[in-house]
Amino acid sequence: MNKMGFGLLRLPQAGRHSAGGPGGFDWPLITRMTDAFLDLGGKYFDTCYTYLNGYSEMAVKKCLSERVPRERFLAADKLPGYMCRSRQDAVKYFEEELRRCGVDYFDVYMLHWLNEAHYRKAEQLDQFGFLEKMKKEGKAVKTGFSYHDSAALLDEILGQHPEIDVVQLQINYLDWDTAGIESGKCYETAVRHGKQVYVMEPVKGGSLANLPSEAMALLQSVHPDRTAADWALRFVQSLPGVEICLSGMNTIEQMQANMQPVEPLSEAERELLFRAAGIILANTRIPCTGCGYCVSHCPENIAIPDFFKMYNELCRYPEESWKIEPVYRQKCRQHGKASQCIGCGSCARHCPQNIRIPEYLKKVADAFE
Ligand code: SF4
Ligand code: SF4
Repeated sequence: MNKMGFGLLRLPQAGRHSAGGPGGFDWPLITRMTDAFLDLGGKYFDTCYTYLNGYSEMAVKKCLSERVPRERFLAADKLPGYMCRSRQDAVKYFEEELRRCGVDYFDVYMLHWLNEAHYRKAEQLDQFGFLEKMKKEGKAVKTGFSYHDSAALLDEILGQHPEIDVVQLQINYLDWDTAGIESGKCYETAVRHGKQVYVMEPVKGGSLANLPSEAMALLQSVHPDRTAADWALRFVQSLPGVEICLSGMNTIEQMQANMQPVEPLSEAERELLFRAAGIILANTRIPCTGCGYCVSHCPENIAIPDFFKMYNELCRYPEESWKIEPVYRQKCRQHGKASQCIGCGSCARHCPQNIRIPEYLKKVADAFE
């Protein structure tokens, strides 16, 4: 069994020794990775209008539709319904997305990032009706939505819209029982409504690939050779009803590791992971996944996810402050410092994890400045 999909939200940047290209991405490597993914039996690619300022959709065109027969890959894209002012806007975005990706239909077409506010707007502008129309016209094979809110609201939406095929949820063992994400309850709700579940953030933005030593030792006590990322991906892929597990991969080696056949978790292993989650939660101060949605909304150009990552590392490994502090100062030469936050709250309105960003930036400033 292997349910991996290639998430195109985080693409490798060009390094000092690589060729680069539009947007500063390492296009030769991205092309090699898409080829390797297809060769290893993968098929599903996930993008969105808002990912990487359009470069993510460009990856579908440059690396797939211009080079690979259409039937060899499945393309999923999403409507930024919250950016629409009218029903006609949905048509405009859809056509632009087809053009950017170089395709004439999507295998899965979703509403991006439904939450309470975005759902009410989707209803007001009949965006579910738009999805159905695309399906009837053969421009979307399956329809769905990606979701960041409570299980109770998910239940309401699925009750109102049984026509939907797919729900894309943030699921990982760390968020399974947390009040902010409710991975477990959302998963159970989607399954109860008979939906296919596609998973985002199975490794929580990479943070579950690098665990506190106590949590890692616990996992290694039963499988000394398994990596932390392998545990996280096995957890998600072992869930019945999960069809696709998205991972944003950055290297060929990472992809080869992720595409290995997956052995489902036993009940004892699942229990062990939840014990490890308790240790990790006690060690993680800011639950940022590094998605970057907040960054472009900050008038002070504060490198929010980078600062949160550094802060988490500092809390986890205080003895390494001498390594982390110079990186913080370096970052502040190109970006606003954490202490420059004016508390406008624009960033927090775009955070799918509902993180109280200005509040945490004060902690970052206290720690590093
Ligand atoms: S609250 Fe602070 S970090 Fe957030 S957008 Fe405003 S200035 Fe930037
Ligand atoms: S603070 Fe929120 S929006 Fe910003 S990168 Fe982290 S999870 Fe994403």
